[in-house]
Amino acid sequence: MGKKANANAQPAAASDKSPRQITQIHLGSHRIAVWYASPYPSEYQQDLYICERCLKYTKTASALHTHACQGGYPRGRKIYEDGTAGVYEIDGKQELLYCQNLCLLSKLFLDQKTVYYDIGSFLFYVLLARTPRGLKFVGYFSKEKSSVDGNLLACILVLPPFRGQNFGQLLIEISYELARRDGMVGGPEQPLSPQGFHSFRAYWRRAVVNELLKDGDMQIVSLARLAERTGIRTEDILFTLDDLGLLEFWRGRHIVCVANETVRRVVSERWIRLAPRMDIEGMVGRSAGTSDCDDDTL
Ligand SMILES: [Zn+2]
Repeated sequence: MGKKANANAQPAAASDKSPRQITQIHLGSHRIAVWYASPYPSEYQQDLYICERCLKYTKTASALHTHACQGGYPRGRKIYEDGTAGVYEIDGKQELLYCQNLCLLSKLFLDQKTVYYDIGSFLFYVLLARTPRGLKFVGYFSKEKSSVDGNLLACILVLPPFRGQNFGQLLIEISYELARRDGMVGGPEQPLSPQGFHSFRAYWRRAVVNELLKDGDMQIVSLARLAERTGIRTEDILFTLDDLGLLEFWRGRHIVCVANETVRRVVSERWIRLAPRMDIEGMVGRSAGTSDCDDDTL
């Protein structure tokens, strides 16, 4: 399940909450109303205080202030950094408690499955924003260490206070870049929520039109070639081209044969943002899916 709710999404389930459920969380300087129920232990109700560093949860602010913060910070291995944010890869098997707490937190804002019973088989990519007051937890995405379905992303979340800053696009771009480095063509786990679909569609549009504009004018490009070059699976490319009105059917197969002028018109009409959010120079290290481990040399 790939899921990201945008800044305008409605907290549909919030009004259904019983008084015994958690209604808001306190995370750093933010007080955030929750959207959905999450299986925290039943003695935790209404207000929940969460440590930004270890994601431990407490019933009171004083308990949070005095808790013993376990583990280093940031956690995991840095895989991306730019002037505004860093992304850290965390192995669910090695950081089981942290990742359990991450899943419990994310379930407060996701209405479908986010809490895994097999956390050890997932990698978690945690996004921290660089702020004047230090690194702040923004969101994450998870993926299976080995997906037989070619899923490069399982769940995705950006906390409500950080939406509208393209952090979701950054996470999606990184998920595809990691897959590309592993020679993988893939996509998000299905089904997508409406919000998740909206975010991925924006990414697919940007990636596909950028690829088309790289070619000379009136090049004929097959779907398979576009998939190979973008890392986006064929069915998602097919959908994107059809959605943008750039698909043709010729001699029994789908092809793209459009002038750059037409592509640029579509970009303008659909308000497609061509510039990626990710700075490719900010990618460091290698994903855990690669076979060797010479991280320090990269
Ligand atoms: Zn802590």
